[in-house]
Amino acid sequence: MNAERDVHRLLLRQLRRLGISELEAPPSAEAWQALLGAVSRTYASSEEDRYLLERSLDLSSREMQALYENLRQVSETRLAAERDRLESVLAALSDGLCVLGPDGTAQSANAAAQALLGVDEAALRGQQVLARFRLVTIEGGDPVAPEVALGFVAGLGQTLRYDRSCLLGQPGGEDRPVACVLTPLMLGGTLRGVVFVVSDTMNSRQAERELLRTSEALVEARDRALRASRTKSVFLANVSHELRTPLNAILGYAELIQEEWAHNLEVAADAEKIQRAADHLLQLINDILDVSKIEAGKMRLEFEAFDAPTLVDAVAGTMATLVRRGGNQLIVDCPSEVGTITADRTKLGQALLNLLGNAAKFTRHGTIRLVARREVEPGTPWLGVAARSWVVFAVHDTGIGIPTERMGELFVPFSQVGDASQRQGGTGLGLTITREYCRMMGGEVSVTSEVGRGSCFSIRVPADVPAVLAHSAV
Ligand code: ADP
Repeated sequence: MNAERDVHRLLLRQLRRLGISELEAPPSAEAWQALLGAVSRTYASSEEDRYLLERSLDLSSREMQALYENLRQVSETRLAAERDRLESVLAALSDGLCVLGPDGTAQSANAAAQALLGVDEAALRGQQVLARFRLVTIEGGDPVAPEVALGFVAGLGQTLRYDRSCLLGQPGGEDRPVACVLTPLMLGGTLRGVVFVVSDTMNSRQAERELLRTSEALVEARDRALRASRTKSVFLANVSHELRTPLNAILGYAELIQEEWAHNLEVAADAEKIQRAADHLLQLINDILDVSKIEAGKMRLEFEAFDAPTLVDAVAGTMATLVRRGGNQLIVDCPSEVGTITADRTKLGQALLNLLGNAAKFTRHGTIRLVARREVEPGTPWLGVAARSWVVFAVHDTGIGIPTERMGELFVPFSQVGDASQRQGGTGLGLTITREYCRMMGGEVSVTSEVGRGSCFSIRVPADVPAVLAHSAV
């Protein structure tokens, strides 16, 4: 046997330190003594170590115990606080909330659910809560059986909404409209039941019904108003037409009497009065006819290309006598560059006649200017917006002007802004018609005025038929 190989190397080192290097033969007495002394010291020190170790183990296990206790208390307090918070949130919810087991039996319910169902939580526990509801998704839809709903939610983990449900009333009582939501309750990643939320929709459904009733009433009222307006327009159109024929006859006879009785100043003056009154009446009837046609959507535009300066000259020619009658000077400024315009020639002419007629009516010994110019509105090519060309016709006068606070009434049918002394006959329809014509052509009328200094009415219309009107142009 190889003794050195069989002895532990640490023991070997100790033996060598004690002078025992020969393992085959017994050691000397001193060496043996020394060996025993070393062994005994080792025993003594290991006993001390064990004692120290045991003590420290004992200490740390007691500390661990205290620590654990501490932790337990803290987590219990926290848990209790968290439960309190959750309970107060549930109690504060205005919607009813029940936790149902996978079989649909109630496990807990908040205050709103207890109030809605009319039972306290203890009585509710274990009951099939869903059986007290008719679960319906849409108005007039078929009810869904509670077991089916439960299967989808607790079995397949789906969330379901039944907005048009109702809580079945007690025998003899009424059902109550509610909205229900069923959500799967997941705990630790596993389906453990269903959270059932139910909201009382009594008020909102009543409001909804009222809204529906109001909107139906409004639609009916609108239809009635439209029918009435159409009837009125047709009536006005017929009456106006019927009145125009006898009026034209009256005008013709008045003119005849004036000519034939020119030698009798009294008769001629009376005939002139008849003619003026009939003229005014004819104008009124024509205007009413136009307004009623516009209102009924029966006024059609007839687009054509024509030379704007020629139209301006024609209008100025027609109005020259009337303008001068008031001691006014008429200045026309329409350079040939204004060029061609595509619009409804007759209606544009009528609008300009209206403006010039007003300027003449409300100006005495002043100046009236009819000015036209072309305006080009640059497009935005990168936005696909092409440049547009407009023609502006402005009628300036140095007449009585219009107070700022009355400007809003200018285009209101039948409204005349000046006081009785300033009315100068008229119908109060001219500006309404003018504005409607301009709008129909894709343009607008604007006005600036100063009392005592004069007014400026401007018509701005597209030089070409606007794309939106192109298809309706005749
Ligand atoms: P009418 O001239 O037939 O009364 P309008 O609709 O053309 O009807 O005009 C409405 C009112 O606007 C006029 O009665 C007048 O009070 C005011 N008005 C129109 N044009 C002028 C103007 N150039 N200067 C002052 N007042 C004007």
